[in-house]
Amino acid sequence: MMKDEVLAFLKQEEEYCSGEEISHKLGVTRAAVWKAIKKLQEEGYEIVSSTKKGYKLVNRPNIITSGEIKDNLNTKLLGQVVEYRDEVDSTNNLAKELAAKGAIEGTLVVADKQNNGKGRLGRNWESPAGTGIWMSLILRPNILPQYASELTLVAGLGVCEAIKKSTGLDAKIKWPNDVVVNGKKVCGILTEMSAEMDRINYVVVGIGINANIETFPEELPYATSLKIEGQKEYIRKEIIQCFLEIFEKDYNQYGVDMSLEALRARYEENCITLHKRVKLLKREGESIAEAIGITNSGALIVKYENGMEEEIVSGEVSVRGLYGYV
Ligand code: ADP
Repeated sequence: MMKDEVLAFLKQEEEYCSGEEISHKLGVTRAAVWKAIKKLQEEGYEIVSSTKKGYKLVNRPNIITSGEIKDNLNTKLLGQVVEYRDEVDSTNNLAKELAAKGAIEGTLVVADKQNNGKGRLGRNWESPAGTGIWMSLILRPNILPQYASELTLVAGLGVCEAIKKSTGLDAKIKWPNDVVVNGKKVCGILTEMSAEMDRINYVVVGIGINANIETFPEELPYATSLKIEGQKEYIRKEIIQCFLEIFEKDYNQYGVDMSLEALRARYEENCITLHKRVKLLKREGESIAEAIGITNSGALIVKYENGMEEEIVSGEVSVRGLYGYV
């Protein structure tokens, strides 16, 4: 797209460039350059113009448009197509719509703000503007529908490692797929799919990361953000890119093995739920057990006081720490 090329050009220039120079180098009319600049300014780029000297990019804002996410992105599949919106009801809903219309695998839907962000079981996901990472990936894995939930664990591992790598914060996975920092939730993942009995049409992996949010409503005592924990502002596109790169490798590996086997050690290493006593909230009531491992299909192995072991499947049970969220 024209504006992406103009942006790339302005990014590599330290000084003012005239409209004429840009139009000449890119082989387009000056009117097209002017239009592209106007669009970029609308997106939030601070481009100053001077009738004598031309244009100059003075500030690269913390934005997550398609052009920013694809810039220097090291993947083959994930995020090669990016659908950015300033505002959506929910990125999962838009992703499902696009997937139903045939969007290719790896398409990333990302929004600056969600008006009706969703958690599991119809719960609400707080998604204010300008500060979070609200995104959904369209996948078309060649696996049976009953295994799709395993992908959620793979995505959780990717988010955890991407946060660690790009922020240095001590992120951990709360089984099955929440990511926490200092015992509070910085990320939630909601996987949805469309499938026949024996075949998946598409899977949508929705990921919400509280990047630069400064405060949360009182009803969310267990929510925190990277900024609150790290005391600094993080560049959202770097976290997104880092996640896409890690998740792409792991998704490919998962597709070869058709199980979490090769990823399990890394998952367990990052999992804060393991090797301690946890509270299991089931429909029938609460119980306490020690979390001792993860199976190759992503179940949590727990051991009760009486020595009995059980494999807990995600979705059936909520897990809490004995004294707090983790
Ligand atoms: P669970 O942890 O039970 O799986 P979900 O992942 O479905 O929950 O997330 C929904 C819940 O997360 C909501 O009910 C709310 O308590 C909490 N929540 C909502 N928005 C946020 C947010 N931005 N950050 C952290 N937690 C949130």
